[in-house]
Amino acid sequence: MMKIYWHNDRFRIYQIKQLLDDNQVPNFIKNEFAIGAIGELSPLEVMPEVWLTDESWQGKATQLIEQFNQQPSNTSNWVCEQCHEENEGNFSLCWNCGNSANADENAIQKT
Ligand SMILES: [Zn+2]
Repeated sequence: MMKIYWHNDRFRIYQIKQLLDDNQVPNFIKNEFAIGAIGELSPLEVMPEVWLTDESWQGKATQLIEQFNQQPSNTSNWVCEQCHEENEGNFSLCWNCGNSANADENAIQKT
């Protein structure tokens, strides 16, 4: 196992996990729920991390993450209609409940 990515922004962590999942790279998140229970710990110690289950995926995962980081994030954040969590604009599904980002637009178009 090895740590491949870490960031204090939980949304980015979920995006990286989704990216790796989409490319069949075995991975898991550490410290996923730590932010809500920081207590005495420093923010660095509770930063969410993406880990690879198998180190042989490192090359592939690094490449995917580099490509991801080069993408401009020019879309604005959106709030999930279903659970009211905030999601980054280039995230098409709600990280929390899987609801589609377009549900809002569809509703507007119908009315
Ligand atoms: Zn949601």
